[in-house]
Amino acid sequence: MFSRQTRYLERHWGFRDMVDRARDNRQGPKIPSSAIFLSGFGMHARRLGSLNRLEAELRIPARWEPLVGERKPSAEAMGHALARWDLACLRGMLVEAGKMGKRKKVFRRLYPDSHWVAAIDGVETNRSRKRHCSECLTRKVKVGKEKKEVTEYYHREVALQLIGVTPVLILDVEPLLPGDTEVSAALRMIERVHESYPRFIDVLSFDAFYLQAPFVKKVLNMGYGVVIVLKQETRDLYKDAQGLFLAREPQERTPWVRGEAGYENIRWLRGETQLWDEKDLTSWPQLGRPVRVVRSLEQKVKRERIAGKWTEREVVEDWQWAVIFPDETEPPAELIRCWGHARWDQEERGFCELTMLWHLKHSYHH
Ligand SMILES: [Zn+2]
Repeated sequence: MFSRQTRYLERHWGFRDMVDRARDNRQGPKIPSSAIFLSGFGMHARRLGSLNRLEAELRIPARWEPLVGERKPSAEAMGHALARWDLACLRGMLVEAGKMGKRKKVFRRLYPDSHWVAAIDGVETNRSRKRHCSECLTRKVKVGKEKKEVTEYYHREVALQLIGVTPVLILDVEPLLPGDTEVSAALRMIERVHESYPRFIDVLSFDAFYLQAPFVKKVLNMGYGVVIVLKQETRDLYKDAQGLFLAREPQERTPWVRGEAGYENIRWLRGETQLWDEKDLTSWPQLGRPVRVVRSLEQKVKRERIAGKWTEREVVEDWQWAVIFPDETEPPAELIRCWGHARWDQEERGFCELTMLWHLKHSYHH
């Protein structure tokens, strides 16, 4: 059943070697870690959707033995082992796959670029009002007609993934622990990525709330270029940039036809992109260095299918990004625009792939 897939993985990606290094921290386990890992792999590859489904499948004689071996885990054994999993070995597999991918030139560019750009995004993976653990985050929510306030437990992670290339690759994931902000969890992850993937990434792309001087300084010190969405609420820098953009003509004006993003129910038909590029803005003194701001004003015709009917309307998007590099690097404004858009496109595709192709729609075991 799996033989073609595992033969391919073995021949091209040294799968068996990776699997043999899988570890967990159970005391005196009866079922080897590799059998747990391969059962989990098979469960996701076949989109079984739950540990119980997996257990039922594993009981069918002679079906899973070629993949998993003679000792097959129950749903309970899977949950017990996975809760004690050695994450360093999993992250090591990601690093290896990423480096091999680059070496084998498997990443295809979505637009011409020589930089390696990664984006950080947050994702919520578990929510419950009953079950919780010591690492759950909590929030108050109002429920029912009486708006009674109850505690909700949830898990949230930040993930780092390559953008502007296909196939998608998630490089690392880090949970937000009680007391964390998304920014503090992201910093832990970036520090680890910096150590385990030296020179793998050139640029990191962030959402607006990462525009915090201490954080940005640390990321620049690790040698990464930084691109951050700039929004109105983020004060002086935005206002100053806005003043300059209003006073000047755009540096580039590019009419275009046909779409750049082709989702199933959305097409971009034609439009015009105007680009402004202002360097050496000094209105973010906390950072201690000048900031470049790129603005992309995009008028386009959006063709959208709603309830089976295609409609067209004109939309205007006004994007701005703060661009800061630790050195003299100055990528063209058009490339900054591509990175900014790839970020959203990729957020769809990265997590989308995990949910659609691997059935990671919910947490399988708290
Ligand atoms: Zn929990």
